[in-house]
Amino acid sequence: MNPTFEAIAARLDGYDPQALRVELAQQFIKALLPLPQETEKLGLRAALGRVLAADLISPLQVPAADNSAMDGYALRASDLLPGGQTRLRLAGTSLAGAVPSAALAPGHCQRIMTGALMPPGLDTVVPQEFTQRDGEFVVIPAGLLRAGDNRRLAGEDLALGSVALAAGRVLKPADLGLLASLGLAEVVVWRRLRVAIMSTGDELRGLGEPLPPGCVYDSNRYTMWAMLERLGVEIIDLGIVRDQPEALREAFGRAAQQADAIISSGGVSVGEADHTKRVMAELGEVLFWRIAMRPGRPMAIGRIRSGEKSALLFGLPGNPVAVMVTFYAFVRDALLRMSGANSEPMPMLRAASTGALRKKAGRTEYQRGVVTRRPDGQWQVAITGNQGSGILSSMCQANGLVLLGHEQGDVATGDFVDVLPFDGLM
Ligand code: AMP
Ligand code: MG
Repeated sequence: MNPTFEAIAARLDGYDPQALRVELAQQFIKALLPLPQETEKLGLRAALGRVLAADLISPLQVPAADNSAMDGYALRASDLLPGGQTRLRLAGTSLAGAVPSAALAPGHCQRIMTGALMPPGLDTVVPQEFTQRDGEFVVIPAGLLRAGDNRRLAGEDLALGSVALAAGRVLKPADLGLLASLGLAEVVVWRRLRVAIMSTGDELRGLGEPLPPGCVYDSNRYTMWAMLERLGVEIIDLGIVRDQPEALREAFGRAAQQADAIISSGGVSVGEADHTKRVMAELGEVLFWRIAMRPGRPMAIGRIRSGEKSALLFGLPGNPVAVMVTFYAFVRDALLRMSGANSEPMPMLRAASTGALRKKAGRTEYQRGVVTRRPDGQWQVAITGNQGSGILSSMCQANGLVLLGHEQGDVATGDFVDVLPFDGLM
């Protein structure tokens, strides 16, 4: 039996649904999240971006044996003369993929290629470019090498039986390579999370429809779809739903049947025609919050039931920027955790504000900013113009969100602020 929302809220210090701190809302949501149950086995390429379901224990050591990190000559460090050049007699060649030769007598070295196994007894490699050849001999300058230089040790990448990748990891390009280096062609991941999306509002029109006065095209379903696509979840698009109880009941019921989570936009503020709140409350356990944040104040959170099935509900505001900001502030992390991922905090930059910013203490703000690097290497951030919650173009101009915390007051030119960059490497 899941704890009731009141029981969860009672554990939060300072819970106030009418002016809820962003951090408290995040904590509350964390306590609601069900963990994934079903797994599937996928080929490596299909597993990119998916979440590893169990610790992956290395069945091999990588590298399997000591080998050379350079093209050059393998030698014994004990043969090197401390005071001057060393002359070693050349005996054979060790190629990558070949079986190493028999042990060499002291005073000998062997030509070796990158990745070739170290000949028995030899422990150090001198790169070719530092040596000179003199007939049968290789001449090595003094003071160049220490024992073990340019040798890769068996198991230095992965030890046999070690955790190569931990459960909850979202598989990245390097991970696919690592799995391949262990000889693994398949991997067990959590099944993809199913997320239903819908836009609510009588004024909304779909693309290709005429736009009568007072109506707007439904843009939220496209930004929601895109943000979810980036998260790698399975998307169930329930379209535009009219502000009519029957239509809403039907859509939420269908969503709870098919999805693990539902994201709706619109209808959670205090507007007259917003039947959404009533229908949500009727279909499950749902809380309505005014969050101390900008943009994105109203939000609904809960569980919608349909027969035996239920889905977590994120009722986001209707304003296009508020949809994106509340998604990044609350939904993204929640969906990652529900997908089985170890959700880590997003990396942030500290950037100097190029201008003064007005900010009231007592709410969290997410302003849209353009972050650039100054010639001295310092990050700086300039706020895009109008910060209204309907100005979607501000999200297109920006390359990051300037995060101004709950206690923060006005920002002076040159003050440092936190920025969440939109893009990362992997
Ligand atoms: P609401 O939260 O339903 O009161 O909507 C707030 C504002 O966001 C209104 O101006 C709506 O027209 C607008 N809006 C709501 N849903 C969408 C949507 N799907 N696409 C674009 N704008 C929307
Ligand atoms: Mg509405």
